[in-house]
Amino acid sequence: MHVDAQPIDLTTMFFVNGLTSFATALLFLGFWRVTDYLKRSDSLLYWSAAYGLLTIGFLLLASTAVGLVLPRGQLIANLTIDAGTALSLVATNRLLHRPARDNWPIAVAGCIAIVEVAYALSRPVPDYGVMLVIGVMLRGLLTIATGVVLWRDADTSHRPPARLAAVFHFAWAVTMAMRTVPVLIETQGIAAFELSSIVALIVRLLLSWMIAICLLWMIARQLDERLIQYATRDTLTGLSNRRVMWEAGAQRIAALDRNAGEVRLILLDIDHFKQVNDRWGHPAGDAVLATVARRIGETVCPGDLVGRVGGEEFMILLAPASSLTAVDLAERVRSAIEQTPIVVADDREIHCTISLGCSRTGRGGTSWEKLIAQADAALYAAKDAGRNRVVDHVALAEAA
Ligand code: GH3
Ligand code: MG
Ligand code: MG
Repeated sequence: MHVDAQPIDLTTMFFVNGLTSFATALLFLGFWRVTDYLKRSDSLLYWSAAYGLLTIGFLLLASTAVGLVLPRGQLIANLTIDAGTALSLVATNRLLHRPARDNWPIAVAGCIAIVEVAYALSRPVPDYGVMLVIGVMLRGLLTIATGVVLWRDADTSHRPPARLAAVFHFAWAVTMAMRTVPVLIETQGIAAFELSSIVALIVRLLLSWMIAICLLWMIARQLDERLIQYATRDTLTGLSNRRVMWEAGAQRIAALDRNAGEVRLILLDIDHFKQVNDRWGHPAGDAVLATVARRIGETVCPGDLVGRVGGEEFMILLAPASSLTAVDLAERVRSAIEQTPIVVADDREIHCTISLGCSRTGRGGTSWEKLIAQADAALYAAKDAGRNRVVDHVALAEAA
């Protein structure tokens, strides 16, 4: 084998891997610094630190390869890279909000590292084959563990980039394992070892860039999800906001032209809510709003859409297939709120009631704005009639 004819030598590959690891560490750090939302999560810092350790490890390997004499330089360099690989597992678990106990493979890797150090220190010139097999076991375990977390634990929104990153981790573990084959069958010498190192380092370079891109893609998905949540959800109650309700309502009215059926709507407002704030304080008022929202959510049927459309005003858009009338559902919600007092801080109980107005499109159809105006009129009628009651717009119109 003409190793001398290699266009790329091992030292260059160590250097290039070190420099790209450094660039990746800076990239993650920069992303973390400039994105306010990401500062709340430290997983990017962990990724940056992991790539920082890889940088140190590879640059140490390059330095020993060019003749810098450091006692046990190669061993220290490899252990630094292993530490970086272990930190990548921690960073992945943090990114996917996994508990710390999911980092257990690091304990096993630590035991293998102890064996590696003990073997290396026990002889003046450790056998490169033994060192290679131990090193591949250690790094392979950590790499596969990271891949498994990415494959298994990413939620639906992260899944495509996470699974792609997992595949790249598995590919890297296979590449490392393949390096042990010539050593295990004892057919090749040190030259093959060096050549396989170069090939592995080229593969590693490509895979680590792909993995970095996948990680940034995952973070972009996380940001995207957060933006959608901010744009569609009410932060205090977690319910859909006014914009979502308006869009859903308008869409359902438009769909009526194509399908039979009707759109049924309930508007509800907490009675004398200002007094709750005045008497118990604003935080207690917030707790009441959150509890009322939760109770509405628990009382409605699957498919009904609930939103917070004003300070203490909520809307229920009944599912097209719902078997209940708006008045029946409104009555259920009213009694669910009336029957059980709301417990706020210091075990104080607040008795709350709500007034509700119902409307429906009926046969002739109507616009979304008109449907809301009708439910609003019914709600005001409920307030005028003494609160804590349900008024149906149709009954109101008939009575007029
Ligand atoms: P009514 O029975 O006629 O509806 O009387 P009300 O006191 O409920 O109605 P009003 O419109 O006079 O007062 C609504 C109050 O809701 C005033 C406002 O301070 C309070 N409010 C609105 N949004 C929030 C919020 O997010 N948190 C808290 N704690 N209070 C809020
Ligand atoms: Mg009110
Ligand atoms: Mg109100």
